[in-house]
Amino acid sequence: DKYVKVMGVRFPAITLERTVNILSDVIEQNRSQLFHVITVNPEITMACQKDRQLRSIIDEAGLITADGIGIVMVSRLRGGNLPERVTGYDTLLKLLETGNQKKWSFYFLGADPVTNQKVCEVIGEKHPDVVILGRHHGFFNPSEEDKIVEEVGSLSPDILVVALGAPYAERWIHKYKSKLNAKIAIGVGGSLDVIAG
Ligand code: UDP
Repeated sequence: DKYVKVMGVRFPAITLERTVNILSDVIEQNRSQLFHVITVNPEITMACQKDRQLRSIIDEAGLITADGIGIVMVSRLRGGNLPERVTGYDTLLKLLETGNQKKWSFYFLGADPVTNQKVCEVIGEKHPDVVILGRHHGFFNPSEEDKIVEEVGSLSPDILVVALGAPYAERWIHKYKSKLNAKIAIGVGGSLDVIAG
């Protein structure tokens, strides 16, 4: 894939379809390391200008996508042409569709307790062959964090979906990367609220 640099961030020029194909390959490859997907929205792009730690989290990610029409437009001025905006929400929907065909397993972390439960019910109805290994709401105190990390780690999902808000989700995934035992982890912002309706 080609790359385009926008505000110092090196974006691969990939569509949503290509993104999901890359992630399907990752799941099928059985890698030992967690593959961190970051849909880089304007908030993350701005924050990483001054925040070197966040910048290195982005640099270390397995895959980043351009989650902002502004990022796509700027890329065109650079002649680089990012093909389209790839949001966390759209990526999640495609992962659920593909996951339903391929029987992938998921863990859903984040959103308030009611939404977290509701979203798993909605997904279970809409995508009955998606395996929901576990879930936890996103309003835990720091003292509960180890327990959650251990639970995810012992369940070892194909995909860990983290809805804690950006860039907190990205920092959280990065911090526990080596313990989560997920093939893929992705921060999805407010997507669970939208899916829960
Ligand atoms: N959220 C959470 N724990 C927190 C803060 C937020 O689980 O401590 C959830 C919130 O309920 C929502 C999601 O994170 O489902 C994303 O929040 P927001 O829309 O503010 O983030 P963004 O879309 O900007 O990443």
